[in-house]
Amino acid sequence: MMTGEEYRQSIRDGRATYYKGKRIDDITLEPEMSSVVDLVAAGYDRWYDPDAARHPLMSPPRSVEEMRERIPVFETLDVMTDASYQSFSTLVTAAGRLRADNPDIADRILAYVDSAQAKDIRITECITDSKGDRSLKPSAQVDPDQYLHVVDRQADGVVVRGAKLHITGASFGHDLMAIPTKRMRPGEDEYSIACMVPVNSPGVKIVNVGFPPKTDDPRDQPATWAHNMFDGFVIFDDVFVPNERILLDGKPELAAIFAHSLGLWERLGGVTYMADQADEVVGLALLIAEANGLAKISHVREKIDELAIHATMLRAGLEAAVTNAHSTPEGYFYPDELYTNAAKYQGATMYGTMIRHLLDIAGGSVFTVPAMADFDNPDVGDNLRKYMATGNASPDGLYRARLFATIRNLTSDDFGGWRLVAMLQSGGGLFAQRIVARGKYDFEAARHRGLKAAGLLEGDH
Ligand SMILES: Cc1cc2nc3c(=O)[nH]c(=O)nc-3n(C[C@H](O)[C@H](O)[C@H](O)COP(=O)(O)OP(=O)(O)OC[C@H]3O[C@@H](n4cnc5c(N)ncnc54)[C@H](O)[C@@H]3O)c2cc1C
Repeated sequence: MMTGEEYRQSIRDGRATYYKGKRIDDITLEPEMSSVVDLVAAGYDRWYDPDAARHPLMSPPRSVEEMRERIPVFETLDVMTDASYQSFSTLVTAAGRLRADNPDIADRILAYVDSAQAKDIRITECITDSKGDRSLKPSAQVDPDQYLHVVDRQADGVVVRGAKLHITGASFGHDLMAIPTKRMRPGEDEYSIACMVPVNSPGVKIVNVGFPPKTDDPRDQPATWAHNMFDGFVIFDDVFVPNERILLDGKPELAAIFAHSLGLWERLGGVTYMADQADEVVGLALLIAEANGLAKISHVREKIDELAIHATMLRAGLEAAVTNAHSTPEGYFYPDELYTNAAKYQGATMYGTMIRHLLDIAGGSVFTVPAMADFDNPDVGDNLRKYMATGNASPDGLYRARLFATIRNLTSDDFGGWRLVAMLQSGGGLFAQRIVARGKYDFEAARHRGLKAAGLLEGDH
């Protein structure tokens, strides 16, 4: 296993990362990016055990119980540990689905998993291509590079070109798990490429987009300080990938297996976070309603009840996804697709309504609450505390001010905006979840129930 310090050293490897228009030679030294390095390094140190050969969470679950036990842990993990766990889980799930007809590919995938676990590296999920015109398939794009594809073949590997967008943590990991973003059609062999690319490979360039804290006082933006992360626009500018790092090459009929496996694990992760966040929203709504003196007012109470019901249904969906998990031939467990996708869809579609309730209950200070440093200022601090106080919950107005600042951070500033878009799009958009749910839901049984209810089954009168 790696320590946090060894992790820092490991990413000083000549990787080509860019931020705010400049190439960054060492992200551990760039002031805004280094705070993310600190979070990832702390994630390494949290689990470091000199006597353990492997990170306990990097091996996908071997039972329903193990999957369930990990849920509370995952709610507290740093993003890179989580992305790596999802990547390993994706790979073993894909291997299981490929085992019967393509044992060679399944073996190759598991060999990579084993070597990556042994090195304790972090992996990011590179699926979303630039995609060009969304109505056209990859091979019909005006620019053939809009989907990652093979542009040259050599005896010892292939050369790939394309771009993967929105890749969370791309600059902070070691390997990019580059997999086809969707189903490929016959003739799209060059687009049917799945490979594990080291971040410092010549030709890989990552342009970072982030939401670093805007103040140096964590009280203003507690979530930003705790979860600061950069997403990467990853360019594959004719990147050589050696044969041993190629998982799939040239079988269009198999391309979607990787995307479906990743979507499943990303969405389970999404539901895990959503359930946790939904409880957090209930708590904040309750606290600010109490502080405002409105906790017993009926319309406020009803909104908090609705928030609680939403949070409970997300937990129920998560629990159902885990309880109904399935096993690969190798004995790895993966969650049920219908429950996972239905819960993720429900969480994503209702997120805006739930945040509306919270903002409705809280009031305008969510946005206009002064900076915490102003509360410390001897000229105005006492006045701010006095007029922020309501006589409820705490005599000190700073208590209520911190609730407002936290709600702003979670819903309405850079981080809140990131979360709003992430809720809808990460793990694939709503359409993707509807398609999976459509494929898994038992429509025939529902049809039967409908006919029975209408008295239209054979034998009914
Ligand atoms: C914060 C954040 C983090 C992310 N992290 C990652 C990551 O780590 N790795 C990763 O690979 N991706 C990541 N994503 C990308 C995410 O999966 C995509 O944003 C999502 O799949 C939508 O793709 P898109 O952004 O290209 O939008 P589009 O594909 O343009 O979708 C926009 C809308 O058009 C619809 N649409 C698109 N094409 C069609 C079509 N052919 N027919 C009908 N409707 C269509 C979609 O359903 C959607 O409603 C992240 C996204 C965000 C916002």
